[in-house]
Amino acid sequence: MNTRTNERVRCLIIGSGPAGYTAAIYATRANLSPVLYEGMQPGGQLTSTTHVENFPGHPDPIMGVQLMDNLKQQASRLGADLRSGIATGADLSQSPYRVIINEEICMEADTLIIATGASAKYLGLPDEQKYAGSGVSACATCDGFFYRKKVVAVVGGGDTACEEAIYLASLASKVYMIVRKNKLRASMVMQDRVFHNPRIEILFEHNTVGLFGEQALEGARLLKRQGMPDEEEVSIAIDGFFLAIGHTPNSGIFREWLATDEAGYILTDPNSPRTGLPGVFAAGDVADSRYRQAITAAASGCKAAMEADRYLLSV
Ligand code: NDP
Repeated sequence: MNTRTNERVRCLIIGSGPAGYTAAIYATRANLSPVLYEGMQPGGQLTSTTHVENFPGHPDPIMGVQLMDNLKQQASRLGADLRSGIATGADLSQSPYRVIINEEICMEADTLIIATGASAKYLGLPDEQKYAGSGVSACATCDGFFYRKKVVAVVGGGDTACEEAIYLASLASKVYMIVRKNKLRASMVMQDRVFHNPRIEILFEHNTVGLFGEQALEGARLLKRQGMPDEEEVSIAIDGFFLAIGHTPNSGIFREWLATDEAGYILTDPNSPRTGLPGVFAAGDVADSRYRQAITAAASGCKAAMEADRYLLSV
């Protein structure tokens, strides 16, 4: 590794979502003098959502950006060393573990907390950016509440899409599922639930090609049986457009050293952020394909810092 600087720390945290900042708060209070690198999207996924109503301790809705800024300030006030920088490489072959920042700084760490999160996949339409925060979302649990008695669409045919559609159907007046194949990929039990939900209409063999609306989202343009001789363009009027086509865990640089599942989520001990390497912990969405909530990420960040403290006391 061709790096210019070497620095040794007791606790290195990579990522600045709820898991990373909570780990920093706990690690600082445990006198581990943590250094946290913010990563690709400072503040994490919550910075791309609007109102957050389900993070305990906030009786009124709080903007995702504000919540993350509060966490950052809390970690900073306690003394955590928060830095901007992206982890671009890692060598976890031995302790101290080495993480390369911005391809030039080599951080050597006695304990490493990986809290790099996951990124929701988008279709790649320019309109998704245009209506981000005003109709387009990748998290029904976060944003569904704002679509009470409205019409929404969920893109995808997997378990997540079914779960999101069922959740949204408990709030919205109607939920379209936009599915590119002629069948769902979800488990049979989830398929059964969406098929029997009167508020859910499944549009099989439809692909989204555009979104429209004056200020906020008003509808989506779809192609039915795209590329077939009987291809047809249809429009649906919707207030919300939810992506549920999967997430990508940001575990790339660590996969050589740590066990992951097929999708790349880092595998940890049950109910613990411990990985297969002593002193290396994975917290938040990078190790959680199931819950993916800010509060569960924060909880695992707390556990990771406590485990790091215990580990340092034991060596
Ligand atoms: P999946 O990969 O299972 O499903 C993704 C869905 O999105 C598929 O229907 C896929 O279509 C569709 N899709 C992907 N890309 C596009 C695209 N560009 N345009 C349109 N559609 C697209 O992801 P999930 O997030 O649903 O699930 C991930 C894992 O987590 C799975 O193993 C799942 O079983 C599990 N899970 C389990 C839950 C539970 O047990 N309660 C809840 C949620 C998830 P196609 O089928 O055509 O490829």
